[in-house]
Amino acid sequence: TSSVTLRLVSSLVPTVPMSSHRIAVIGAGAAGLSAARELRREGHGVVIFERESKVGGTWIYTPAVESDPLGLDPARTVVHSSLYDSLRTNLPRECMGFLDYPFVAKGDDNRRFPGHREVLRYLEDFARDFEVDGMVRFGTEVVRVRMEGDGQWAVRWRRLGRDGDEDDKEELYEGVVICNGHYSEPRVAEIPGIEAWPGKQIHSHNYRVPDPFQSKVVVIIGSSASAVDISRDIARFAEEVHIADRSITEGTPIKQPGYDNMWLHSMIESTHEDGTVVFQDGSSANVDVIMHCTGYKFHFPFLETDGIVTVDDNRVGPLYKHVFPPSLAPWLSFVGLPWKVIPFPLVELQSKWLAGILSGRIALPSQEEMIKDVEALYLEMEIARRPKRYTHDISQYQFEYDYWLASECEHPGVEEWRKQMYVANGKNKIAFPESYRDKWEDEHLLAQALQDFKKLL
Ligand code: FAD
Repeated sequence: TSSVTLRLVSSLVPTVPMSSHRIAVIGAGAAGLSAARELRREGHGVVIFERESKVGGTWIYTPAVESDPLGLDPARTVVHSSLYDSLRTNLPRECMGFLDYPFVAKGDDNRRFPGHREVLRYLEDFARDFEVDGMVRFGTEVVRVRMEGDGQWAVRWRRLGRDGDEDDKEELYEGVVICNGHYSEPRVAEIPGIEAWPGKQIHSHNYRVPDPFQSKVVVIIGSSASAVDISRDIARFAEEVHIADRSITEGTPIKQPGYDNMWLHSMIESTHEDGTVVFQDGSSANVDVIMHCTGYKFHFPFLETDGIVTVDDNRVGPLYKHVFPPSLAPWLSFVGLPWKVIPFPLVELQSKWLAGILSGRIALPSQEEMIKDVEALYLEMEIARRPKRYTHDISQYQFEYDYWLASECEHPGVEEWRKQMYVANGKNKIAFPESYRDKWEDEHLLAQALQDFKKLL
């Protein structure tokens, strides 16, 4: 069908001998740090552009929020991180860390599911230990990435100096690796009657602390990890919390175990001028705030590829193995797009793969073969009636994907205990959303992890 037919674009891949290249990496979060480390290990020259003043990306907590609480105003000053103050990881640290750099406790926060500051500490240690931090140009925002006719990439950046002067320059690179994260551009739910509804709306991107919700009646839309955490955070202060979950169509409202002020509902049916919110289950409440915990959009405002790479209903494409646009490979790549995964090991393997390809050590299939692979994925999704926006949700095959990347790199890949720990944690989280971070039964996997870490530490 036409939707699965991809344009075959004349290859811009220069024929180069096996050698090193000058590569720009955009972003110094987990993905950018990992990409830079692997690129340098392969002998490439790397510059990391980072808008913030330190490494860590999402894991740099800030109390600052955006001027538009829904995060929709394109003129807003973007706050990158979506962390809330109380956030603890939703994966055990052994499972979450990079494959060759165990995420072990170092004193301040020894919990297995630590708070966000401990993750930032880990990423800062990673950057320091592998001397990646010296490759970062901090306070430097990439505003345009454009491919030039001769196969080079023009990277335009701007930096605000201490004296308030703006520095604005363009530099040429042979390749660009995009690692700008995908939890900063909110997606909001469509709600009937919302224009006339008088209450306040906010996206979880701009949620930090529960105190402002004191005595309020709050609706939380969504069922993601953030929705689960935030609803419980807020329930300690709010008058009532109503969770609207579109995946539940009958049998609600259900009072949540352990709470006398929190209910689970089906989705919102309508909202009204008098402040009422009516749910599809027929119940209603007079509501002060609607919080959208409805996820994010992939967003590359700086990227100009003459339509070769597009974002269509949150499908970034065409991308071979979620990394390379076939006609621009290997000179343009994306690290960290897959979601519902264990992100750090995944970006580590993607980084090894792309760095090896750039140096000519690992081969890519032909452009035609890469396109066929992408088309096969799109067709499979179409047959399964899976909307495009789930293209990079690889929860059904994350470990096969990791394994495939590892085998391309001749790397042993993700350990068996890590896979089993991920599955055990997923089950524990569903069964005990309140306590999974402090009570578990995978001691045998933990013991195997610690045994493995001994070899690395
Ligand atoms: P980011 O960390 O977002 O880094 C992107 C970087 O790019 C940022 O530093 C940003 O400033 C920079 N940047 C963006 N645009 C530009 C530009 N134009 N110019 C220059 N720099 C730019 N993962 C887990 O493993 N465990 C968890 O428990 C977990 N919990 C999470 C909870 C929340 C609320 C969220 C939002 C995410 C969570 N994640 C978790 C996933 C998390 O996103 C990944 O762990 C990881 O941080 C992603 O790294 P990244 O490098 O892809 O993106």
